[in-house]
Amino acid sequence: MTQNQNSINSVSSWSYVLSSATSYLSLQEEYIPIAALNHYAYCPHRCWRMFCAGEFFDNQYTIEGSSLHERIHTVGDGNRGQTWQIRAIWLKSDQYRLIGRADLIELDNGEWYPVEYKRGHKGEWDNDQLQVCAQALCLEEMTGKSVNNAYLYYAHSHQRQLVEITEQLRQSTIATIEAVQQLLRSGKMPKPTKTKRCDKCSLYSSCLPQASEKLGRYLEAR
Ligand code: SF4
Repeated sequence: MTQNQNSINSVSSWSYVLSSATSYLSLQEEYIPIAALNHYAYCPHRCWRMFCAGEFFDNQYTIEGSSLHERIHTVGDGNRGQTWQIRAIWLKSDQYRLIGRADLIELDNGEWYPVEYKRGHKGEWDNDQLQVCAQALCLEEMTGKSVNNAYLYYAHSHQRQLVEITEQLRQSTIATIEAVQQLLRSGKMPKPTKTKRCDKCSLYSSCLPQASEKLGRYLEAR
């Protein structure tokens, strides 16, 4: 029996996760979606709008991202050379109260790692790295093995970027998990702040960060 086969057999608990996708609905009040970490790291106000106020609008970037994920989210597994791949699998962590669907998990030479697909090119910010690190934390808990690497696949450049799951990245991810938990628990709205990120944000027209800042200053001055 190969090293990969041993590892596959040792994660039979995955079938629980796969077969209980419906339990996501009952879990989601207690568990935070992994994607929320990405949105929070991008902008806490955006995360609040999406996950507390239930607001979402598409723009060019979100539509491209959704169609990319629709193409790759066909549940299934198989081998690519020596590497075993499983697509669109639900991951969860009881320790960190996380749940989310991974685009692709691979097992190569006894090493598990997640691969997250993104539109465009490598981002300027670290929000994608936090998301894939959160997947790695779930994978560690589900397999009982250390996950030292992950990958981000950028569709426009057709390149995989290696993300090392360093202690520093783990700590940043855990701090973001705690911040998102606190946000969802309190429902308290973080103030919108106009930054470069607003230019690509699909919520710009409803958020109007400059107008909100002006109004805030006006109210403070009264
Ligand atoms: S427009 Fe800017 S401040 Fe408003 S949600 Fe988007 S990124 Fe955040």
